[in-house]
Amino acid sequence: MSDSANITALKALVRTVPDFPKPGILFYDITTLLKDRTGFAMLIDELAAHYLERKIDLVLGIEARGFIFGPALAYRLNAGFVPVRKPRKLPAPVARVTYDLEYGSDTLEIHRDAIQPGQRVLLVDDLLATGGTMEATIKLVEELGGRIAGLAFAVELDFLRGRERFPNHDVFSLLHYD
Ligand code: AMP
Repeated sequence: MSDSANITALKALVRTVPDFPKPGILFYDITTLLKDRTGFAMLIDELAAHYLERKIDLVLGIEARGFIFGPALAYRLNAGFVPVRKPRKLPAPVARVTYDLEYGSDTLEIHRDAIQPGQRVLLVDDLLATGGTMEATIKLVEELGGRIAGLAFAVELDFLRGRERFPNHDVFSLLHYD
């Protein structure tokens, strides 16, 4: 399927940087989109449009770039915002998940009282690559009894097939790259 004019315009605002943060990685840099007032608004509106008809209680953003899109989306959807953070940043009692990376592991934390059982939660990150980060975040939300209303990304690297990890969830990304 070919991209709409809006999607083509948004893709033109994303900068790709070869060999960052290490050789062989093509980094999708969204800062060039964020600083464009029309592009940023269009991105949030297009993402929000997918969820306007659904009841979303909370938008949950993953540190760090999920903190950029998540709150704007929450405002647009009349929902609250919950941060999922790197270790030792949150002051009150937390739930914690550790997950494997290509080399080593990473940990994410959420306040235990951030989600009430049964609340409908939309999970947001800037980019879907292998899906490991989102899979770990889903575990946190499930541990707290939240209901996952969807997984939202600005960018999806289709060739990594990360979405195949989430057959039971609505995965929505705006900008797809093969
Ligand atoms: P993953 O857990 O493999 O889906 O990786 C997703 C996380 O890593 C997101 O939070 C992204 O910000 C970051 N990420 C992974 N690959 C890239 C890339 N090629 N360009 C920019 N960010 C990336």
